[in-house]
Amino acid sequence: MTDRVVTRFAPSPTGFLHIGGARTALFNWLYARHTGGKMLLRIEDTDRERSTEAAVTAIIEGLDWLGLTADGPPVSQFERAARHRAVAEEMVARGNAYYCYASQAELEEMREKAKAEKRPPRYDGRWRDRDPAEAPSGVKPVVRLRAPLDGETIVRDRVQGEVRFPNKDLDDLVLLRSDGTPTYMHAVVVDDHDMGVTHIIRGDDHLTNAARQTLIYKAMGWDVPEMAHIPLIHGADGAKLSKRHGALGVEAYRAMGYLPKGLLNYLARLGWSHGDDEIMSIEQMIGWFDVDDVNKGASRFDFAKLEAVNGHWMRASSDEELVEALMRERDHLPNGEILKRRDDATVRRQLTAAMPGLKERAKTLVELAESSAYLFADRPLPFEERAEAILADGGRVVIAGLLPGLSSLAEWTPEALEAVVREYAEANGLKLGKAAQPLRAALTGRTTSPGVFDVLSVLGREESLARLGDQAG
Ligand code: GLU
Repeated sequence: MTDRVVTRFAPSPTGFLHIGGARTALFNWLYARHTGGKMLLRIEDTDRERSTEAAVTAIIEGLDWLGLTADGPPVSQFERAARHRAVAEEMVARGNAYYCYASQAELEEMREKAKAEKRPPRYDGRWRDRDPAEAPSGVKPVVRLRAPLDGETIVRDRVQGEVRFPNKDLDDLVLLRSDGTPTYMHAVVVDDHDMGVTHIIRGDDHLTNAARQTLIYKAMGWDVPEMAHIPLIHGADGAKLSKRHGALGVEAYRAMGYLPKGLLNYLARLGWSHGDDEIMSIEQMIGWFDVDDVNKGASRFDFAKLEAVNGHWMRASSDEELVEALMRERDHLPNGEILKRRDDATVRRQLTAAMPGLKERAKTLVELAESSAYLFADRPLPFEERAEAILADGGRVVIAGLLPGLSSLAEWTPEALEAVVREYAEANGLKLGKAAQPLRAALTGRTTSPGVFDVLSVLGREESLARLGDQAG
């Protein structure tokens, strides 16, 4: 045995990797990296009705995209059913669990009785000490844990503190169903133990489960892992996170054009803080993260903040990184076809040339792709309404006036281009902006773009003059 930390992320593949799950994975991953340990991935696919292969694939793809890869192949909970059964049988042999032959009708009766007496429904332990020789024939029993009747179970949680559960509230839970399949509660404990998990970091909706699971560990004489139950994410209005608030799958965030490092930075700050630091690189997060610093209160999801953080990481990325991110992500972006309008080499070259001007304004890859559209537009350009209005309202006259000077330029550089436009503006009593505006409209079809001299220089002489010529008539 070593003391090496082993965490795990244990999603149920009943849907895609949602944003709360991604944060749980991130905290597990950060803690493992911070401590020099490892993070394992377990797919909790025992619910055969609701688990799908597509969801497993989406979860793994989502984790890969975020860079939260597990240190080992994913473990399928379903495939470990025989081991779960064996452990339950072992518990029966040790006297820590027993066969229960209560029928559905009996259980129903117990529930009704509890309800009438205003008690929480609880199995009454009728097979706990009964001689198995009395078992009715032809009935397949379930296996129940022989849980302590009094005292309390204490969960020492790294986030929630010491949480006490009176044992009288934790009944003899079912470990194995009558068909021999394990219950979720049992499978999780056996898997965590066998996988050598030392730290369980998960949503605080599992806190009560932690008490029940503690009883199973104790019954087997196993060490109880450290627990850290992290508060759920709420919407900006404080209500439980719904689709409207951003409770979407990770792939939806990918489609919105967030960078993994932007999304991870934002997610890390949802419920955890390091002083006043808002912007953190992955290396910094690894260096600083500790489960003890996770807040106890629920955090609120805030799209505006996510955008701002992502915008920071866009600006902090090198031009090359952003070009590669666009090329890699284009099949995931709703407007990714913009980046397929020319052959890849041309797209890369044009993006690289334009990137310094483009990246200052874009908070997401979607915005970045959108703002690069002018590079790959076919002539005659489509015009936004406001751009067309500028051209119609005297803009075309300006362009016709600028064209001779621009076409006779020896050197097509931003400086030389600016000099021509300045000269023309001065000679005609125009402010520089009044000359630049129609240029921008004619070159990009829009009223906003990077600096117009950059646009001219990135498009190059031939394409620029052709676009201007289209408007000069
Ligand atoms: N499969 C559970 C879930 O997706 C997590 C169980 C656990 O972390 O123990 O909520």
